[in-house]
Amino acid sequence: MPRKIAYGANAASEFQYPENSLVITTTTPDIYEKWLNYMGIKKYEIYDKVTPDPAIETIEEIKRKYEGKQISAYIGLGGGSSMDVCKYLGKLTGIPKILIPTTFGTGAEMTTYAVVSFDHKKKLLQDEAFLADAAIVDPYFLPGTPFNIMRNSACDALAQASEGYDSKLGNPFTKLFCKEAFDILDNAIMNDKHDLLPYGAMLSGIGFGNSSTTLGHALSYVFSNEGVPHGYSLSSCTTVAHKFNKSEYYERFKKVCQKLKFERLTLKQSLDEAADVIMPDRGHLDNNPIEVTKQDIVNCLDEIVNKNPLQ
Ligand SMILES: [Zn+2]
Repeated sequence: MPRKIAYGANAASEFQYPENSLVITTTTPDIYEKWLNYMGIKKYEIYDKVTPDPAIETIEEIKRKYEGKQISAYIGLGGGSSMDVCKYLGKLTGIPKILIPTTFGTGAEMTTYAVVSFDHKKKLLQDEAFLADAAIVDPYFLPGTPFNIMRNSACDALAQASEGYDSKLGNPFTKLFCKEAFDILDNAIMNDKHDLLPYGAMLSGIGFGNSSTTLGHALSYVFSNEGVPHGYSLSSCTTVAHKFNKSEYYERFKKVCQKLKFERLTLKQSLDEAADVIMPDRGHLDNNPIEVTKQDIVNCLDEIVNKNPLQ
């Protein structure tokens, strides 16, 4: 876990930010200026050209741009992409990183994982050097989040908690966090208590971050590579994966996805081609509770795109 975790109302406004930090964000000035004002941060640089699924070229460009500017810390402010960029930069330069999620789903502020695109393909990386020096989780950022972003983030957090629970790398400690995260997130969505999402996502990050995600996430990347948002692709992929694994979370996960009204997924490439892309993803597949063959993957994809698994 990060050395420092600041959690709760006003956590982001009470935090003492080092001077000459570089704020990295995916949002636009009309939004982040309000945020930075709330945080009371002074004397900073800002980089606001991060796009979803950041490419390694973007990260290298930021590194070059601020070299010699004596940056004291990176502040990742936004969704998973802003945080992933900070994580990778921190590994390259050794500069400390402060991660502040504003969409609450990836739990990325708690984990040693980062997703970076190489050659237009998303790659899941893990490194101790990706761990935040400080994570700040403050529900202040929640209101105003568009419904689509909220539901994608919530679905990601639920997928991570339940896949993490089932993961072969799980242990009583990670299961404790995954189970609690799932219960909180389930309650947050099913009973429209959205202010519980930040806490649930944070616990999910601790749980799956110390185990792993599994088949659902492995299946989802072929859809993300065709432009489907991460959380959206998990709605069907994790449902089908839970069914395959006979997970105790299958029914509950599906119910939440139905409540969030996720539409069916489509795939441009053939199922066989997609399965060939998924099979080498050993990081996810080797930790799946049941062994997965290529034919299993083809069957899962067939169910995702040809039958409606959320029906
Ligand atoms: Zn995820």
